[in-house]
Formats: sequence, structure tokens, C-alpha cells
Amino acid sequence: MAMNLSNESFYDILGVSQKASTSEIKQSFQKLVLQHHPDKQAPSLSADEEHIHQLLKAWKVLRDPESRRAYDQVIKSQQLKQGAVINEDVDLDDMDYDEETGSFSLPCRCSGVYTICETDMELGVNTASCDNCSLIIRVLYDVVEDD
Ligand SMILES: [Zn+2]
Repeated sequence: MAMNLSNESFYDILGVSQKASTSEIKQSFQKLVLQHHPDKQAPSLSADEEHIHQLLKAWKVLRDPESRRAYDQVIKSQQLKQGAVINEDVDLDDMDYDEETGSFSLPCRCSGVYTICETDMELGVNTASCDNCSLIIRVLYDVVEDD
């Protein structure tokens, strides 16, 4: 029976914790690929094939620190939708833009900084958490779509 993977995070798919190091994730990925694909010559498209596809997708995101960080933000924002408290709404125009990192930031009253980067926003993230305390803001921005 094929597993329904749609509700699993990439960490679940790779059987690692969210705190796992890249090498731990890599080990688990390689082990799982071998389990599900013992014969690389097999030409048939099976449930295993689908699972391999999921593993590759998950690994591709988590092996890269930048995309992993962005993915963690997505998870965080999904968790937020399930009940965390938003401290305040902030207009993107009111945040400082750093061209070098492609990120917007805003000082928190605790002396920490809220940061959200363009990559996050492209993934649909609209919350930024303070790097120092547990406060969260919702960033209001218009999605600009190319014609
Ligand atoms: Zn703070």
C-alpha cells in the first residue's frame, strides 16, 4: 500500500529530526533510497518510484543550508497558523531592506531583530520571528506577479 506523504514534512520523509545535521540527513537519505530502490535497473514506475521522488525532493531542499532555512520558515509559518500569537502586523514598506542578503528587517523592542527574506516570501511565508525573543510579526505585502 502506498503511503500518503502529503502531510509529512521533508524531515518526516527523510526520517530525521528538525535538528539533524546535514550529514545525518544525508546518511538517512542514502539508507532510505537504497531501501526503496534496491535495483536501480528496474524500469517500472511503482509506489517505490514515487517514494524515491519524495526522498529526492526532500533531500534537495534540506541539503542546502539556505533552502533548508527557508523551508524551516515555511514549517514555522504553518505551525503559526495553527495557533501562535502574532504580535503585530507590519507593512513591508516599514521594514529595512538589505540588498546584500535580499532580506527585510525590523528592530524588535527587545533589541533583537525580525527578519524575513525574499526567498521566504516567494515560498509564501508572511511571518517573521524575532531572533532574540519569541515575538512574531505578520508582514503585509502585495504579491507582485509578472505578466
Ligand atoms: Zn524580540
